[in-house]
Amino acid sequence: MESINPATGERIDSYEEHTESEIDDALDHATETFAEWRETSFAHRRTLMENAADVLRENEEQYASLMTEEMGKPIEQARSEIEKCAWVCEYYAETAEEHLQDEVLGAESDAHAFVSYEPLGPVLAVMPWNFPFWQVFRFAAPNLCAGNVGLLKHASNVPGCAKAIEEVFREAGFPEGAFTSLLADSDEMNDVIDDERVKAVTLTGSEPAGRAVAERAGGNLKKTVLELGGSDPFVVLDDAHLEETVEKAAQGRLQNSGQSCIAAKRFIVHTDVYDEFVERFVEEMESWTVGDPGDEETEVGPQAREDLLEELHEQVQDTVDAGADCRLGGEPLDREGAFYPPTVLVDVPEDSPAATEETFGPAAAVFEVDDEEEALRLANDSSFGLGASVWTGDLERGERFARGFEAGCCFVNEVVKSDPRVPFGGVKNSGYGRELAAEGIREFVNRKTVWVQ
Ligand code: NDP
Repeated sequence: MESINPATGERIDSYEEHTESEIDDALDHATETFAEWRETSFAHRRTLMENAADVLRENEEQYASLMTEEMGKPIEQARSEIEKCAWVCEYYAETAEEHLQDEVLGAESDAHAFVSYEPLGPVLAVMPWNFPFWQVFRFAAPNLCAGNVGLLKHASNVPGCAKAIEEVFREAGFPEGAFTSLLADSDEMNDVIDDERVKAVTLTGSEPAGRAVAERAGGNLKKTVLELGGSDPFVVLDDAHLEETVEKAAQGRLQNSGQSCIAAKRFIVHTDVYDEFVERFVEEMESWTVGDPGDEETEVGPQAREDLLEELHEQVQDTVDAGADCRLGGEPLDREGAFYPPTVLVDVPEDSPAATEETFGPAAAVFEVDDEEEALRLANDSSFGLGASVWTGDLERGERFARGFEAGCCFVNEVVKSDPRVPFGGVKNSGYGRELAAEGIREFVNRKTVWVQ
């Protein structure tokens, strides 16, 4: 397995893939560790999870640089990602016990009845490269606190991050086998999913990967949580404060160099403010600094792999061929590395790729609508339903509008984000199940009913 620096095309390092027998040993080890780990107290898990937060902070620069090298994340954003991972560890260290308290049921009879939340066992997590630390910690922190153990199959282009995360838990004092990175190809996951030692599967990634993994897990009657792609609408109503809205629009689209499932991708703008929005938005998108992700001032780095850049460019070209007008960007940068510039497409046809597919890079599609009703229709006219935001000067109007979104995470006057304190996940082809908050930690547990007569 090789990691390639997408800013230069140079090979950083190579890693031996695990053999079948090493994977087998890892599953044995996970099973043995689970038997002991499930019996540990919340206080003990809390201490170790707090240690994990400390390890992350102590090594922030090293982990941030690793992400920057392996997948091109601008260094400042990489540091924030590590900080956020420390936060989710602390959040669950503090709240896991409360989220998993026995729930005493109402007095329907004279019996004492309650629900207890018990861990399931080794959970396989198939994870993507775009937030190579955060996506993994978002899974690992609640699950380890709940008494499960984790098996990570990370994306093939970030093996260094996969190894480093395993090391975080080891250094924090978690027992061997509590969290293991399987350095393996996606083809080998079918056998792992089939294996009876693996009790459940979670995947964050593309829709095809989600379908393949869910189908396999379903055939084995194993529970899955899927966090797949999105094509989030960013709806600008006629009373929005344009200056702030435009800044947030660019931030929503360009975060992580455009490679985020919850990035704003379709900008749906009321006709009364459309011209002004487009003019300011193009200016704002153009002002973001594209460059070497290791430079402190860089805001947009390279795309994580050359093939991903090619895929994005094809979507942009096909959208222009279908009739869209490209107001900014639209061509890969003429320099070393997989760099794509901030791009703005207007007059985007509703059946073109930028309208119907997930664009995983810094390309924005802008649509003009006559009224609120049309805005909501267009916002919901997507096979995805992950996040959505609406921008308005009237909060009640915003809340009313947000209730109409067909999406899992809806925001008024804020860019869609994942925060440990609130549930995160989608509907439609964006997946199912929830991560984070109480909902997240209760996904992979046996909600056991106990009735005492
Ligand atoms: P993938 O969905 O293919 O990869 C995500 C993870 O799934 C990786 O660990 C990958 O392993 C694994 N995987 C893929 N197929 C299978 C399978 N059949 N069985 C088991 N595991 C599998 O994403 P890509 O990297 O190819 O990116 C393609 C597109 O996916 C992006 O352009 C974007 O649209 C979307 N995407 C969405 C993400 C999100 O956060 N929602 C994150 C990443 C991508 P391996 O790397 O070894 O193939």
